[in-house]
Amino acid sequence: MKLKTYVGLEIHIELKTKSKMFCRCSADYFGSKPNTHVCPVCLGLPGALPVPNKKAIELTVMVGQALNCQINSFSKFDRKNYSYPDLPKGYQISQYDLPFCKSGKFMDVDITRAHLEEDTAKLTHINLEGKEVSLIDFNRSGVPLLEIVTEPDIKTSKQAKEFLKKLTQTIRYLGVSDCDMEKGSMRLEVNISLGEDKLPDYKVELKNLNSFRFVEKAIEYEIKRHLEIFKKGEKPIQETRGWDEKKQRSFSQRIKEEAQDYRYFPEPDIPPIRLDKKEIEQIKNSIPELPEQKKNRFIKDYGLSEYNALLLTEDMKKADFFEQAAALGDKEKVKAKKIANILINRKININKESPGEFVKDILNESKKPQIMGEDLDKIIKSVLQNNREVVEEIRKGKETAVEFLVGQVMKETRGQVSPNQVRQTLREKIESA
Ligand code: ZN
Ligand code: MN
Repeated sequence: MKLKTYVGLEIHIELKTKSKMFCRCSADYFGSKPNTHVCPVCLGLPGALPVPNKKAIELTVMVGQALNCQINSFSKFDRKNYSYPDLPKGYQISQYDLPFCKSGKFMDVDITRAHLEEDTAKLTHINLEGKEVSLIDFNRSGVPLLEIVTEPDIKTSKQAKEFLKKLTQTIRYLGVSDCDMEKGSMRLEVNISLGEDKLPDYKVELKNLNSFRFVEKAIEYEIKRHLEIFKKGEKPIQETRGWDEKKQRSFSQRIKEEAQDYRYFPEPDIPPIRLDKKEIEQIKNSIPELPEQKKNRFIKDYGLSEYNALLLTEDMKKADFFEQAAALGDKEKVKAKKIANILINRKININKESPGEFVKDILNESKKPQIMGEDLDKIIKSVLQNNREVVEEIRKGKETAVEFLVGQVMKETRGQVSPNQVRQTLREKIESA
């Protein structure tokens, strides 16, 4: 029996808007005191009226277009009914049959839909004075949440990871979310099943996977687990499972007998949303150059290798730094290729240095007589030996102390060496020793 793997993803992303989805509370709640970003609307008090956040809708449409979705010119919000302490209203405002975005394609994976909903409150389960209690923080409830759903097109754990990496990169380029899984601004769910030629009639939902690596490992683990069950002539049960990173295995959380009935119905407090062609077009025009396009342009315009272009377009900040440095370098007849190589090989910290300083460094290096190779190695070695305490501090995490050592080497060499190169060599030596 040859079985195929079917993996679908559900990705929830908090949008970086100023205010929440249906009220004026600040959506920038991370690190705030619990229950300080709240009002009758996001607390779900009776009679409070939700007013949709236009910016959140625009950002959703923007993401939808970047994922090659069709944009519904007529859309609406619906109530998804369920009872849980993180949702005091008893329903979540979400979208059902008319999401803002549908039928897209990204990285060869079909996108079913991308819709907008509100985030729920955050529950924390703790032991308080000997009692198990759950604390509720409503700061998160009502924050705009974009949900992206894919078809079960993904066939391997590696493909899932690559898809997620590229998706995250694209969303960050669009500036709509920081997709920080540690802060909870991006949350992942994986559906997985194994079957012969068509999609099987069961699926296992993996939840609370808070890194791409966990996604990869959980999928691999599940494939093996399902295969073993099939080998015994049985069929895996439909259930929700979590991932235990310590034990390196998934565990059952909840067994679903049948699909839950959320009794969706149109949200009566919010009129349907119409987006005309012009608006949709305007949002499309505001999409910046995306990673793939940027990479191809770097190859074409600067003559970079595919690999270097890929590295430099990993995030927009790095790409911008390179382009600014390349423009400055061009005036001084320094080739963009050389700038790209140095930027990559020396792992320049672009947050600490400006493109101008970086190019100046390169120019100075080529003018000055340089101390290199064994001579430089000797000097660095002696500086490290004479400053053991500083080295120890750096190892303990005080990274800024590296600058002191750089200064010592610069003094010894009378400046006849590139500080960046020294910094890089020092770091390598300290890490490897
Ligand atoms: Zn509010
Ligand atoms: Mn959802």
